Amino acid sequence: AAKDAGKASWARFEPRMRAEVVNHARLGSELHNALVRRELYLLYQPVYDIVTGQLAGVEALVRWEHPQRGNVPPGDFIGVAERSGLIVPMGSWVLRTACRQLSRWQAEYGGAAIARINVNVAARQLREASFVDEVTAVLRDTGLQPGNLVLEVTESSVLDGPHVRETLEALHELGVRLALDDFGTGQSSLSLLRAVPVDVLKLDKSFVDGICEGADRGRLAVAAAVAQLAEYLQLSAVAEGIESADQMNRLREMGYRLGQGFHLGRPLPADEVGAIMARSVPADGTLDGTAGVVR
Ligand code: C2E
Ligand code: MG
Ligand code: MG
Ligand code: MG
Repeated sequence: AAKDAGKASWARFEPRMRAEVVNHARLGSELHNALVRRELYLLYQPVYDIVTGQLAGVEALVRWEHPQRGNVPPGDFIGVAERSGLIVPMGSWVLRTACRQLSRWQAEYGGAAIARINVNVAARQLREASFVDEVTAVLRDTGLQPGNLVLEVTESSVLDGPHVRETLEALHELGVRLALDDFGTGQSSLSLLRAVPVDVLKLDKSFVDGICEGADRGRLAVAAAVAQLAEYLQLSAVAEGIESADQMNRLREMGYRLGQGFHLGRPLPADEVGAIMARSVPADGTLDGTAGVVR
């Protein structure tokens, strides 16, 4: 009976599995076309200073408008792109497009422009021998300062091997900032912090989700500990996935200075981010933050 059950469940499972494999293969080739046909674009999610209410930066997030399937979420194609290697040209496009956008904002809004743009980088990109040269060339071509660029990497990327670690060292030497994305979900967060030149910790959304009315201390522990850790190590801490004012207030009390999430702002087209800068005062201005959403 056990054998039959096993067989039966396999028989049920198999077509779906096959469909998924086929789907991924097709998605991979469609993704290749997408690059050529310019079906990819970027949205920019605001990162706010949750103490002053000022727009502090943005994170570039890739979007794929498929001619038939409509909007394909990154969760459905980033993995495919990583496995096929397409993430390398796609990531190059993302990096260059995001840096060019910040450079345009700087030209248009001067002192009211954000100081930083965050770009997600996959392990596969970091493994490319030419990655540091590529970043150098993009900074040169767009006229950005290295400190304007924050590269978001995950803990697992960093654990990829010594080559990746050397690459991160070289980027740090350049003056580019490094953020550990989805922080707290990985394998060996703490030892990692001493092995790589990290500047920013991005507390994973899952720990922010647990922050709510009446949450016990246990549910708040990771968020609170990451804030303290960042302070001790003199790193900047960003809380991601903030969906309520209550979460934002509690995170601020824990010591978070920067926040990102639907409560503060969804990923937006470049011109809408520009409109926020147009409404805000220069970061070096005399008035305090007027970005609007916070407070
Ligand atoms: P991530 O880097 O951790 O980016 C944050 C994700 O959380 C984004 O999803 C964002 O839209 C979402 N998010 C932000 N605030 C909230 C919130 O308050 N509630 C909820 N429910 N979600 C929120 P998105 O854009 O779908 O991206 C998913 C992941 O795909 C990213 O996670 C990142 O790992 C990857 N990704 C996106 N763009 C790129 C890219 O250009 N290159 C690479 N390598 N990966 C990318
Ligand atoms: Mg990210
Ligand atoms: Mg993240
Ligand atoms: Mg995430």
